[in-house]
Amino acid sequence: MAARDAEVAVVGLGAWGSSALWRLAERGVDVVGIEQFAPGHELGSSHGGSRMFRTACLEHPGLVPLARRSRELWLELERASGVRLFEPTGGLLIGPPDGHVVEGTLAAARRFDLPVDVLDTGRVRAEHPAHHALPDGHVAVREDDAGLVRPEAAIRAAVSAAAARGARVLAHTWVSEVDAGGDDVVVRTPARDLRVGQVVLTAGPWLSALVPGLPLEAVRMPTTWFRPTGDTAAFTVEALPPFIRELDDGRAIWGHGVGAGLGPDGEVKLGLEDGGRTFAVVDARAVDRSVGEGDWSALAELLPGAVPGLGAAPSRAAVCMITRTPDRQFVLGRPRGDRRLVVAGGCSGHGFKHATGIGEVLADLVCGRDPAVDVGFAHPDRFA
Ligand SMILES: Cc1cc2nc3c(=O)[nH]c(=O)nc-3n(C[C@H](O)[C@H](O)[C@H](O)COP(=O)(O)OP(=O)(O)OC[C@H]3O[C@@H](n4cnc5c(N)ncnc54)[C@H](O)[C@@H]3O)c2cc1C
Repeated sequence: MAARDAEVAVVGLGAWGSSALWRLAERGVDVVGIEQFAPGHELGSSHGGSRMFRTACLEHPGLVPLARRSRELWLELERASGVRLFEPTGGLLIGPPDGHVVEGTLAAARRFDLPVDVLDTGRVRAEHPAHHALPDGHVAVREDDAGLVRPEAAIRAAVSAAAARGARVLAHTWVSEVDAGGDDVVVRTPARDLRVGQVVLTAGPWLSALVPGLPLEAVRMPTTWFRPTGDTAAFTVEALPPFIRELDDGRAIWGHGVGAGLGPDGEVKLGLEDGGRTFAVVDARAVDRSVGEGDWSALAELLPGAVPGLGAAPSRAAVCMITRTPDRQFVLGRPRGDRRLVVAGGCSGHGFKHATGIGEVLADLVCGRDPAVDVGFAHPDRFA
């Protein structure tokens, strides 16, 4: 049998792959990471200066232990790299008391006894003046452990930490195919084929091209920034910490204020979650990266009533992608028990915060250990 080029290849060094590379290298595994662009690029799911971190995850109760472990690992990566990655700003989950944002957050907090406070309408308006137009009766759940992570810096830090522990990194290298038909896995790149024992596929919105058969959709999702038109004090990240605010019609505005190098200077980051109505399913290799009025007009129409004091149109915009599954949960594990393949994708728009914890779970799976955090709810075979 031909000699292996490495024991493990990680294909795709975005949020999840860079963390997997780091956790594998930490264990002394002979690992190579392969990335089509330069790590920390702006062409996938993990750019735009900031990502909200929350422990009280409303998306699934099983995510709380993963978020807790991820928080510890973000701080460990910060110490290892000497780069500030996590900003402990706290966060607000806002909306009608019986809406999915507030109810889901409180359910997760109760189940895991997480320390959160509930702010009534008056307190939200007084303590966070950017939300002064909050409708009567709407409340906020404040989580002090929430914060913001710097995605581009975090990916670079994880790749550097992995390289310092002996991982090899092939940047600007496109993987055209992963052939797991023989005893070893052959990873095909334009320059040469690599023979490895196992492959971790963390290709984000490009994953379905490498693992056909999984119900993954790449979805184009523009991000926007708006400039305050008057007093800027209400729009600092301290006054306007990261939030998700559910509206009466079920849509949600998310974002955070300005500061600490978390994006463009003086601009407030905002987005709209509308159940996927305004975002198109795309082919990740051919996504339209230009931004037009249709990308932000629904959000801009809502802002004067919901978060007044910002420009009528965004001062900046960028195109990002998420990878959606039918149940909006991740896909983590070995499809059909395959001993050579581990897949990790389907972030469904809430996966960055968990990247370090997922990296550790992937390293556990590669090393044949039961993951320290149970991710059975995200097994790829649930779609079989
Ligand atoms: C606008 C927006 C806001 C978001 N906000 C939040 C938030 O506040 N909190 C949160 O937790 N999550 C958030 N998310 C979701 C989060 O960003 C994603 O869950 C996370 O970035 C997914 O990371 P990934 O590693 O799966 O994908 P990526 O980071 O895109 O990584 C995939 C990598 O694989 C590489 N690749 C793909 N195919 C190949 C190939 N064939 N060969 C070589 N390389 C390949 C790509 O170039 C890329 O680098 C948001 C997403 C968006 C778009």
